Amino acid sequence: MDNLLGYALSAMAGATLAAIFFGVWIRRRRGKGPDPAELRRRVMRGAYKALESDFAGAAEEFGAVAQSDPDSSDVYFVMGRLFRRAGQFARAARVHQNLILRHDDKKGEIKKRALFELAEDYRAAQMLDRAVNTFAELVELAPQWLEPLQNLVELAIKGRFWSVAVTYIPRLEKLAGKVDDELAAHVLAEYALLQIEQGNPEEARKTLKLALKRSPRLAHVAFSFAYLHADAQKPKAVIVAMQEALDDRPDVLPLVLDALHRLATDHDFLERFDEFLADRGDDADGHWSVTLHRALRQRELGNDSKARELIRDLIRQGVDIPPVRQQATELMLALPEEWPQQERPWTCRRCQAAHQQLDWFCSSCSGWGTLDVPHTSKNVS
Ligand SMILES: [Zn+2]
Repeated sequence: MDNLLGYALSAMAGATLAAIFFGVWIRRRRGKGPDPAELRRRVMRGAYKALESDFAGAAEEFGAVAQSDPDSSDVYFVMGRLFRRAGQFARAARVHQNLILRHDDKKGEIKKRALFELAEDYRAAQMLDRAVNTFAELVELAPQWLEPLQNLVELAIKGRFWSVAVTYIPRLEKLAGKVDDELAAHVLAEYALLQIEQGNPEEARKTLKLALKRSPRLAHVAFSFAYLHADAQKPKAVIVAMQEALDDRPDVLPLVLDALHRLATDHDFLERFDEFLADRGDDADGHWSVTLHRALRQRELGNDSKARELIRDLIRQGVDIPPVRQQATELMLALPEEWPQQERPWTCRRCQAAHQQLDWFCSSCSGWGTLDVPHTSKNVS
């Protein structure tokens, strides 16, 4: 009995002591931190600074608030976004990385949000590869969340990560319930070119079959098939495929000629390329590119004076397109004074971005087939 009472008393005493110590500890801890009025003031100051677009200053205020309550992830999210708005991407990323580390073992909602924000930090910092990897990680964690998947596909295309884009486009189509066959075919055509370049023609063939299923008549797909035929040493089929591309999109002639010239050189069918050039009429879209390649061929054959003559003729016509200028410079022709100082590059009709080279793809707005061949003075009027 006594013993039991003694136990009970000592247990109570122990509990009381513990409670007192705990209370003191809590009071001490509270005493050390800023008082609630000060916290409120900092939150208000942070809000005002944000309203005045002083995002870095606002982030500092919220950082002080966050330190007084390390468990509150919301304040950290606010802080991270403010740093991003202030252009301090490394600090924003650090805030979000800390959130990810701290919440790695929990249910994951905070981790997912933080991954999303981290990917946005990388996107804002133009670190597309990291943004793509982070969105991909998030998509595996949250496969039903549409926005990261959309961003992943968008950035994979923008950054020309074709294998990533090819992987995730069908998943996006399924989740969004919306199919874009033409986009998929363009991306597959680019991926096939990459596979050929990497020495996987069999994989490229499979990819192009998928592209054909998506969009059987797309010029871009025919263009990529031409590369596959060249790889298989079938020059006749190369020419046929390129002609098919031109039938669909006559305006990509400069792109087709560049590609054909390179393929004919690498795979030894330059006579066929010369025939192709000879067969071009003089009134085709982008005819300047025919003359340009005739000049390049003349130079390759050692006829520099003939090459100069052809380029001079273009200059006389007022053609001031970047590749023509480049060749004129390489042939050491003096630029005539009437040649406008400002180059007229290819312009995207969707986003107005200027490009020095013709391409299927506008790297500024991710538009496909949106680059217009610059007008030559001959075309202008
Ligand atoms: Zn564009």
